[in-house]
Parts: sequence; C-alpha cells; structure tokens
Amino acid sequence: MTYQEIWTKGLKMLQNAGIDDAEGNVSRLFKRVYGIDAAHFIMHRDEEAPPEKQLEFRLLIERRTKHEPLQYILGNCGFMGWDFLVDPRVLIPRQDTETLVETFLDDVVRARPRETLKIADMCTGSGCVGISVQLGLRQRGYDSQMTLSDISVEALAVARKNAERLGVKPWLVISDMFRHLGRYHAILCNPPYIPHEECDRLMPEVSWHEPRAALDGGPDGLDFYRRIAAEAIDHLLPGPGLYLEIGYDQAKAVATILHDAGFTRI
Ligand code: GLN
Repeated sequence: MTYQEIWTKGLKMLQNAGIDDAEGNVSRLFKRVYGIDAAHFIMHRDEEAPPEKQLEFRLLIERRTKHEPLQYILGNCGFMGWDFLVDPRVLIPRQDTETLVETFLDDVVRARPRETLKIADMCTGSGCVGISVQLGLRQRGYDSQMTLSDISVEALAVARKNAERLGVKPWLVISDMFRHLGRYHAILCNPPYIPHEECDRLMPEVSWHEPRAALDGGPDGLDFYRRIAAEAIDHLLPGPGLYLEIGYDQAKAVATILHDAGFTRI
C-alpha cells in the first residue's frame, strides 16, 4: 500500500468513529509511526510504505476509534512548553491549568521572596503543575523546595518519571490530601471538581479513559474544596498562600467555602 492509501484508510476509520479533527489525529499518528509529517507526506504519498509498519499504524488508529485520547496513545502531552509523559494512570494536563501556574509564577516574581519557597502541589497527577512551577521559578532565578503529593501511588510513579526527565528533584509523598503533608509557603492544587453525576456525561475520551478519581468531586463537585478550606490553614506558612483551580461555574461557591473557613483576600 502507498502512504496515501494508508492515510486515507486511517482517516476514514476515525471519521466513521466520529472522532473530532480526524485529519489532525491521523497526521499525528502517521508521524509517530512513519516519521513523516504533513509537508513530507505530500512529497512521498505515492510511494510504497514499509509493510512492517502497517499493523502498528492500524493498531494505533483502532485505539483512537475507541475514543482513547490521543495523548495516551502517543504517551506525552505538552504543558507550559515542557513535554510530560502521560498514560491512563494520570489526568491529561489541560491548557487551562497553565493559568494556575502562570498566576502563581507572576505573583512570586512580584513579591520577590528572599527565602527558598517551600511549595506543595497536591493532587499532582502527572506532576505538571508542581514540576512546571519548579522549572518556571528556576528560569526566573528562584530556588524552590517542591513536594508533589497524590493519593495514587500509580500517579506518583508518573510524576517521578516526569521530574527525572525534566531535571527537577521534588519530594514525592503519597497522601490523601493534607494527611502526610507539612507546612508550605504555597500550596497549589487542581483537585477533582466535576459533580459526580456529570462524570458519565463528559466526552468519551474523558469519561471512558481518564482516571475517575482525578475527576469526581463528589455530589456537587465541591467536596475537595471543603476539605482544603478546612485544613489548609494548618499547612500554610506566611507567603503566597493557596492556589486552586476551580470549574468555570464554581467561583462563587468556592469563595464562600473559603470565606466561611476564615480565608481573606480570596
Ligand atoms: N495536577 C494534575 C493536573 O492539573 C492532576 C489533577 C487531577 O488529577 N485532578 O493536571
């Protein structure tokens, strides 16, 4: 078969399965297997493709037709310009979450702390938040002592690999929220915050394949914010404070929870 024939067949399979941006997906998987990007494809499309790779390509396409996220199939995902390993043990880093990291980095730069910041990234998953913070602070000339924590041992294994690959040395702590954590100048957390009932209604890429424990925030999605609000004060040293990602419609509810727990300047 020629490259063109293989490409077209893959594209049809993804289109039939109702995959969004089937073209872009084929192109990424094609590049992974054959090492040919879209521009080179045009030059080589009528050539015979190496037959030994056809099965590999087909298997990847088949995984995608079952709505497995492209990032799990490729095994990596970009976040803050760095490359993170991902697999079904961890939530796929979202671009929205870069806002959490950027906001924190901007605040630190503005405050110009003189001491080494002790920071925790709770519910770290792939480690994308804490590791990017460490790398970002290093780029800006600040040292930090980072703790990455998660209740999932499996997730921490992924975070550890990412830290090694990206050249940072955080502490890794298995902990159900604050349970085994100390005190920090800053705590960042992107907790699970999808209301329980909604978890099954998300797109299949998310609801069938991403770890439920990383998504499900309890009946109203706010369970983890309640726990954080109740316990965070005992784990904070004077410094930047608490940085949370929340759902697009949760600002009022989370602000109230924090206010009632005694937080100010929310
Ligand atoms: N901290 C990770 C992220 O932001 C994982 C978050 C989670 O599992 N809820 O992607």
